Amino acid sequence: MRDRCTDIISKMGGGEEAEIYKLAIIITEKCSLRCKYCTEYMPDIAGIAKHTDIEICKRSVGKLLDTVGKLDSLTILGGELFLHPHWDEFVRWCIDDRRIKNVVLLTNATIMPSNWKVMQNDKVVLALDDYGDVSLRLSELKECAKKHGVNYAVYRHTHWFDVTGYSLVKQTEGELCRKYETCQIKGCWNISDGFLYKCTTSFYKMKYMVRKNIEGNSDFIDLLHQDTDAIRKAIERLSGKDYLDACKYCAGTGNENMIGVARQVR
Ligand code: SF4
Repeated sequence: MRDRCTDIISKMGGGEEAEIYKLAIIITEKCSLRCKYCTEYMPDIAGIAKHTDIEICKRSVGKLLDTVGKLDSLTILGGELFLHPHWDEFVRWCIDDRRIKNVVLLTNATIMPSNWKVMQNDKVVLALDDYGDVSLRLSELKECAKKHGVNYAVYRHTHWFDVTGYSLVKQTEGELCRKYETCQIKGCWNISDGFLYKCTTSFYKMKYMVRKNIEGNSDFIDLLHQDTDAIRKAIERLSGKDYLDACKYCAGTGNENMIGVARQVR
C-alpha cells in the first residue's frame, strides 16, 4: 500500500470552522511506473491519463481551506508528481499560503525534479518512496537533496494490498461495514480534479473501472461548485458513512490480499 500521508481529521458541527490536519492532492494521473496493483489503476488508464490544471488544484485546495481554516500538512502526489510540467508553480502557491503549515512532495524516486530551488524551504519535505530496484533514482535524489539543502525523508514499504478488482462482491451489510472499518487504505482524504473524497481507490475505481457518475455521488464532494457551508455539511455526511459505494466492488485489505510492493506490469 502506498503511504499517502493519509490522515485527515476533522472536527465539525454547529457552524464551527472544521479542523483538518492532513490532506493529499493528486495533481497528475500520469506515472513513470506501471505497478500491476496500483490502487489508482494508473497502468489501466495510461492511455487517457491527464495532468490536472494547476488553477483547478489551487481553487480546490483554496476552497477547502476556506471551509476548514488551515492544514497541518498537504501532500502533493500523482501518478508521479514530477511529470506535471507545472508542479513547482503549485508548490510555490502552497508555500505562500500561510494556512498550510507543511508541504510534502511524494515521489516514486524515478524522476529528477526540474526545480530544486522551490523546495529549499523549511515548509517543504521531499518524501521519497523506496520501492527497491524500481525506485531507480533514489540514491541520486538523496544526494541532490543534501546538496541543495532540501529536507527529505525515505519511506520503505513492506507490502501493498490488491484492491484492484472491480466486480460487485457478494456480501452482507455487516461484512461491508467491517471491511470499511478495518480498511487500511480508507481515511486517505484526498483531492482529485476538484473532488474531495476518503479513499483514493474509491475515486479511481468508480470513475474509470465501474464507470459510475462521480458528480452527484455523496462519496465525492465537489469543491468547485458548492459554497463552504454545503462543503462542510457534505464532509460531515461522508465522515459518518458506514461504508463507501466503492467498497461493494472492492476486496478490502485483509491479510489474504497482501502482496509485494510495486510489482511492474510486464
Ligand atoms: S474497502 Fe472501501 S475504503 Fe477500503 S480500499 Fe476498498 S473502496 Fe477504499
